Amino acid sequence: MLKGNFPVEKFASLKTPFYYYDMGLLARTLDELRAQLSRYPDYRMHYAVKANFNPEILKQIAAAGLGADCVSGGEVQAALDAGFAPESIVFAGVGKADWEINLALDAGIGRFNVESLPELEVLDSLAAAKGVKASISLRVNPNIGAHTHANITTGLAENKFGINYDILEDVIRRALELNNVVFRGLHFHIGSQILEMDDFIALCNRVNELSERLSRHGLPVGDINVGGGLGIQYQHPNHFPIADFATYFATFKKHLAVKPGTPVHFELGRSIVAPCGSLICRVLYVKQGTSRQFAIVDGSMTELIRPALYKAYHRIENISSNEPEEVYDVVGPVCESSDVFLKAAEIDKCHRGDFIAIRSAGAYGEAMASRYNLHQLPEAYYDWRR
Ligand SMILES: *Cc1c(COP(=O)(O)O)cnc(C)c1O
Repeated sequence: MLKGNFPVEKFASLKTPFYYYDMGLLARTLDELRAQLSRYPDYRMHYAVKANFNPEILKQIAAAGLGADCVSGGEVQAALDAGFAPESIVFAGVGKADWEINLALDAGIGRFNVESLPELEVLDSLAAAKGVKASISLRVNPNIGAHTHANITTGLAENKFGINYDILEDVIRRALELNNVVFRGLHFHIGSQILEMDDFIALCNRVNELSERLSRHGLPVGDINVGGGLGIQYQHPNHFPIADFATYFATFKKHLAVKPGTPVHFELGRSIVAPCGSLICRVLYVKQGTSRQFAIVDGSMTELIRPALYKAYHRIENISSNEPEEVYDVVGPVCESSDVFLKAAEIDKCHRGDFIAIRSAGAYGEAMASRYNLHQLPEAYYDWRR
């Protein structure tokens, strides 16, 4: 079985489970992303911090010159601490608390992505109290489904995100009346783990339609932020270690109608960091059930909740063994039936103590870790080999 190139000999002294980060792969990913971006001078990338806010990872991404996309005050602070330029930070979220808005105003972030009329009014008054003006985009709910898991589609009218498509004109007019917010553009985000470019084409069509509608009403459009959502190949991390940024940008270039010189903002998270991370666990027990065989590992949903939360697939490799494959349900120790990494996983024969790599776990892995069952939060191991 084809496996990742892990320095297993270095793992013996480490406490499992831990997150392994291939910093060389992250660097190559950022190189490829920058190479693609250099073909589109108006495109701006803001890394979605919520995918992985590990300080070492944030530092590398900030050093590559990307901006940051944040969804909380804590993330704005983490982005500032990691060295992201304040003006490159954009801040979305349906429920921004006053302290979070104030923190972002004090930092002088580039853009608030405002998600409702009441938020707009609060932002204006908090900015007025400080005697500053806040640059804003309005986050529009485009009512577009994405072909992805129901829990990670965000652009449908039934989802809580963004401003209803039908009342957008009223909200823009209100923004133009207020003295301490400056309307600068529109923001969208339709979901995550999107591999069908048709979904992004549908978004482009919707944005184009909306821009025309606003222009007809004599309203400004400003710049466009199309959010994130590009997916990765969870099935084949060894064959496709870097997401297909080229096709993604080419899709927007072809289908999004903007005047030359208009900035187009992107907010990718998963596709930048998912491939470089693996959760490394050890096999505790191999247990025979009545109809199946279990590999019980020391990692669980408390380190990587995506399989339990979204039925997400992660490829699993036994990186200690080279014996013929057997079929296992790979499960963790947590007292929840959903604490299963993968059913009927075909992996090299397992023995107690083997290292198991759960691949493509760099996004929404460590960032979603919890202390349920009083587990400790996982630590990180950085592999700096290039
Ligand atoms: C989560 C999120 C993103 C990033 O999504 P990915 O699927 O990780 O690329 C971008 N923008 C907003 C507003 C988000 O909430």
